[in-house]
Amino acid sequence: MDLFEYQARDLFEKHGVPVLAAAIATTADEAEAAATKIGGKVVVKAQVKVGGRGKAGGVKLAENPLDAREKAAAILGMDIKGHEVRTVMIAAAAPIESEYYLAILLDRSNRTFLVMASVSGGMDIEEVAHTAPEKLAKIPVSAVDGISLAKAKEIIGAANFPSDVADQVADVLLKLWEVFQSEDATLVEVNPLVKTKDGKVIALDGKITLDDNAEFRQPDHDALVDHAATNALEAAAKAKNLNYVKLEGEVGIIGNGAGLVMSTLDVVAYAGKKHGGVRPANFLDIGGGASAQIMADGLSIILGDKDVKSVFVNVFGGITACDAVADGIVQALELLGDKATKPIVVRLDGNNVVEGRAILAKAAHPLIEQADTMDGAANRAAELAAK
Ligand code: GDP
Ligand code: MN
Repeated sequence: MDLFEYQARDLFEKHGVPVLAAAIATTADEAEAAATKIGGKVVVKAQVKVGGRGKAGGVKLAENPLDAREKAAAILGMDIKGHEVRTVMIAAAAPIESEYYLAILLDRSNRTFLVMASVSGGMDIEEVAHTAPEKLAKIPVSAVDGISLAKAKEIIGAANFPSDVADQVADVLLKLWEVFQSEDATLVEVNPLVKTKDGKVIALDGKITLDDNAEFRQPDHDALVDHAATNALEAAAKAKNLNYVKLEGEVGIIGNGAGLVMSTLDVVAYAGKKHGGVRPANFLDIGGGASAQIMADGLSIILGDKDVKSVFVNVFGGITACDAVADGIVQALELLGDKATKPIVVRLDGNNVVEGRAILAKAAHPLIEQADTMDGAANRAAELAAK
């Protein structure tokens, strides 16, 4: 999960990373009130989960509360690279002397953590990374050792931070490591980390990505979820613990095992070309041990999607044999009753396939059609969706 800048700022503050006073606002009134409370010059900053806000006009300096009000009114409602600005952050403005860059990230390809640091930070850091890569120091950090004071000094040396800020930057690095580790982040980025005219080092902009796999041990992170952006179907699926992703098409997909579901999306997209370009409507993996209840939960999410015109249930019997899955489908349709309204093409294969198919044949549910092969089922589901 990516965080908004203001959420990153709050986590920085919690762990002692130096930040400036700030508050969020969703209206011009609130922006003016926040600027009054902070006092002096402020920056009005669009809160969107996308980079390059500054260049897109989403970061503006304001001289006083009235000016902050006007700048907020202009930024709220703006579209930045497809993201609508619903919130702005009002932050005390810093008199900037230098802009630096610091990031700690998970380097998957090298199976380690990585620090990137540069004294040429600011809005052109991507450009710097391309045209002058020597100005962006990259230092691996082992998961076991983390960032010690010695490591921080090594990073500061490699990136050529000036000696007058070395101690402060070292302290920021130690605290950012604490944020990264204790919050279970996969990315913590500060750009710019600034030196102010009076020589203080402050994090002016923060970007944090939290590791969703660590959710179970981070109960506080629930509060950081942006519910307004979560699709209602995805939220319902999450509440039922289903691995569901909403897509743009018309053929609802249920399968067991992520690999099988991904190939199912491919064959449906391919078959759909012959039927007016219909496409898969979702990814849904009900996993290995799918009970009738899980099948019913999955079917009800998919049937609740108004874009879905047909459903393709693609199951390979393994740990859960096909007869158990077939029983699950039949019971799921009983549980759903009138709520099941769309044609369902079922392809069963694998363990106990004969018994599974017999159960579906015997149930003779009017919505269910069986297909022998994955391609045949994909073609039929696409055909039904195109009708
Ligand atoms: P981004 O474009 O989304 O990365 O937004 P940032 O928060 O990094 O802001 C972009 C740029 O605005 C920074 O690189 C600074 O040059 C400038 N900026 C941001 N905050 C302040 C501030 O408090 N004072 C001044 N003078 N400039 C700021
Ligand atoms: Mn930035």
